[in-house]
Amino acid sequence: MRGRELRGELDAFLAETEQELVEFRRDLHMHPELAFAEYRTTQRIAERLTAAGLTPSVLPRGTGIICDVGSGDGPTVALRADIDALPLQDEKDVPYRSTVAGACHACGHDVHTAILLGTSIFLAQQAAAGLLPGRVRLIFQPAEELPGGALEVMAQGGISGVDRIFGLHCDPRVDVGQLGLRTGPITSACDKIVIRVSGPGGHTARPHLTADLVFALAKILTELPAALSRRVDPRSSLSLVWGRVEAGSAANAIPDDGIAAGTVRCLDENAWHAAPDLIKSLLESVASAYGIEATMDYTRGVPPVVNDEVSVEMLAEAAERALGAGAVVPTQQSLGGEDFAWYLESIPGAFARLGTRSPDGLTYDIHQGTFDVDEKAIAMGVRVMAATALTALWEVGPLDSITSALA
Ligand SMILES: [Zn+2]
Ligand SMILES: [Zn+2]
Repeated sequence: MRGRELRGELDAFLAETEQELVEFRRDLHMHPELAFAEYRTTQRIAERLTAAGLTPSVLPRGTGIICDVGSGDGPTVALRADIDALPLQDEKDVPYRSTVAGACHACGHDVHTAILLGTSIFLAQQAAAGLLPGRVRLIFQPAEELPGGALEVMAQGGISGVDRIFGLHCDPRVDVGQLGLRTGPITSACDKIVIRVSGPGGHTARPHLTADLVFALAKILTELPAALSRRVDPRSSLSLVWGRVEAGSAANAIPDDGIAAGTVRCLDENAWHAAPDLIKSLLESVASAYGIEATMDYTRGVPPVVNDEVSVEMLAEAAERALGAGAVVPTQQSLGGEDFAWYLESIPGAFARLGTRSPDGLTYDIHQGTFDVDEKAIAMGVRVMAATALTALWEVGPLDSITSALA
């Protein structure tokens, strides 16, 4: 019953608010701010939330906002948008082009922000009308691109008491009006690895009297990826690829040090957690076989975003109701990283891909100065986020109770 009413309520709300949200997005697009410098963006969001009767709480660093809508003993559902821009030049020729040299909303976080703002205003109206059966925590997260903003939100207690969290990202390969969903991992982990090797060095005539560092380094470069392919479940797609290697200067001298650097990408969370120790032990065994010393610097990026099955079903139900039948499309796991993953290490939730391509339009990839969206995606995003929050709050038992609540 409520599901059917919700569609009409969203129609009425968006008829009034869509244009304001588009203008809000364009304003952010003209004034992009980089990670942990989103002061103006934060101020603008806070002002609009306050005008909607809400009480936004700005994070201690002055960028990013947490704001609760509704109250009571019911469940708490969090909705997250990231608000930072990229250090890229805007290459578009549009009236709302970036006015800041070297900064651009090329990842669509201005769109995510406008969507969550619209959702916030709608949910505030629902709460005021006594129609919100629980609490929704709105998270306007700074510094996704660093990454690390999610950790800042969590350090401030941003997800404590939250039962479930949802987020979405613009996807220029999906048509506007559609939502890409996937259960399980949807983005990847990407870490950096640097290996330094050292030995006594010497003449290439006498490798047996020293340690052949270049030969040993070559063994490390080939043996580590090969051993990983047999020591780690192939389904995890753990992939160590070298991007830089350096050693030596003369053809007839064995050098005394060398370096190799690369990335470790991984689709599976367990394999990701185990990777550093495993790689270190493989490195030590290869190095010791050739009598050289080896050290490893391993820098963690983000884990993969792993979507919870029940949360994905909630998103799917909500999208079908709010966007129409056939709106949900399958999506693939990408090799990109997304710091929403940090939240899902603590609580269940799901991350969706929001279609932003005009049907038959050109596809501009994210992280490019030409990236732009079909702005109809903003209203679509509000529909999905609002319906998802309500669907998750309505849920008190198994999925068929959601279906009946939405019938
Ligand atoms: Zn990005
Ligand atoms: Zn992004």
